[in-house]
Amino acid sequence: MANETTLHAKARVALADPAGMLDRLCDHFVSHGTVTRQPGGARLEGPFGAVELEAGAGALRIAIASPNESYLFVVKSSVAEHLVEFAEGETITLGWQGDAAGESRIPYFREVVVRRARDITPAMRRVTLACDDPGYFATGGLHVRVLIPPRGRPPVWPSVGPDSRVIWPDGDDVLAKRTYTIRAIDHARGELDIDVVLHDDSPGSIWAREAKPGDRVGLLGPGGGDVVPADWYLLCGDETALPAIARIAENLPSSARASIVIEVADAAERQEIASDAAIEVTWLHRDSAPAGSTELLLQAVRDIALPEQGAPFVFAGCEQAAARAIRKHLRAEKQLPKDRHLVAAYWRRGHADVHDHGE
Ligand SMILES: Cc1cc2nc3c(=O)[nH]c(=O)nc-3n(C[C@H](O)[C@H](O)[C@H](O)COP(=O)(O)OP(=O)(O)OC[C@H]3O[C@@H](n4cnc5c(N)ncnc54)[C@H](O)[C@@H]3O)c2cc1C
Repeated sequence: MANETTLHAKARVALADPAGMLDRLCDHFVSHGTVTRQPGGARLEGPFGAVELEAGAGALRIAIASPNESYLFVVKSSVAEHLVEFAEGETITLGWQGDAAGESRIPYFREVVVRRARDITPAMRRVTLACDDPGYFATGGLHVRVLIPPRGRPPVWPSVGPDSRVIWPDGDDVLAKRTYTIRAIDHARGELDIDVVLHDDSPGSIWAREAKPGDRVGLLGPGGGDVVPADWYLLCGDETALPAIARIAENLPSSARASIVIEVADAAERQEIASDAAIEVTWLHRDSAPAGSTELLLQAVRDIALPEQGAPFVFAGCEQAAARAIRKHLRAEKQLPKDRHLVAAYWRRGHADVHDHGE
């Protein structure tokens, strides 16, 4: 991370108890990254950059180094949120200096417009979005947060406060936020495809069912879902991870081998999976069982032996309980190191919008 660092921001925050705030920030951050304490200060390092904190007389000094504009924004807004949260009613005045000072937009936000939508299987609808800079979504991760405005109202998008905290619209303008995978990018046509599972009268399903040309949505991202180079892959998941699995498979090199296991409702939900790699695809059918109620995926993962030679990587995306069971099995039974698997809860039975990426 240190070598990639290019952008910097700093701030000085007047506080009654800077040392207490330093402790609270460090205690909180320890579960998100590395905390190195020194007398009167600390260095916090995480995936989005590094933060130096120095508690002086009546003020906390903050210096951030991040590799790009989006990461810098994530760190600034997160530091600001936590300062306010831990201030216990004390007023926080935070003015950032340095790169992107005075930034009034979220750098990883884009407004896109529905161009068309069609069913690709009985329970999966493809929404095609027109986008000015599709290349922007080609790197940095597979997924986006789709911001869905209330039906019949012009969208009010999130903005950025002077302290870099995100200001979300509320009341009648509140946005539904759901995570989806960008299934495909058509650079020439300026289009992104998102494949949405239709399962309920839920915000995501309703959006996809009713999407018509001209509808606007916001996208935050992209991020997450990257697989690391390996000789052999196991890509598994239910239909919510089918778009991610299909996109990952399409990008595997011809030298790779992959076992692909996908749980769907029934045979009508199968899709073609294309890859240059040597792939073996297994479809698991729930038949009449509800989504998220079976151990089909866990059983399939149990039954697959890791190759004796070559570096493995396991990707899994599914209902939360299944994801936890698969992660536990991979670590405890298959002894797979943390950097050789990415197992994520894509949804949680009985709960709206799980956002647990697992790692
Ligand atoms: C990284 C990531 C990538 C994802 N990519 C995709 C994708 O490309 N396509 C996609 O369709 N989904 C994807 N998902 C899953 C999707 O975000 C969730 O299914 C989300 O809950 C859907 O929102 P909703 O408004 O339809 O339902 P919610 O309002 O979130 O939930 C309403 C109810 O429906 C249930 N529910 C949610 N999802 C399902 C489901 N699939 N089947 C049955 N019941 C369900 C919930 O348990 C809840 O009871 C992804 C999730 C993550 C974390």
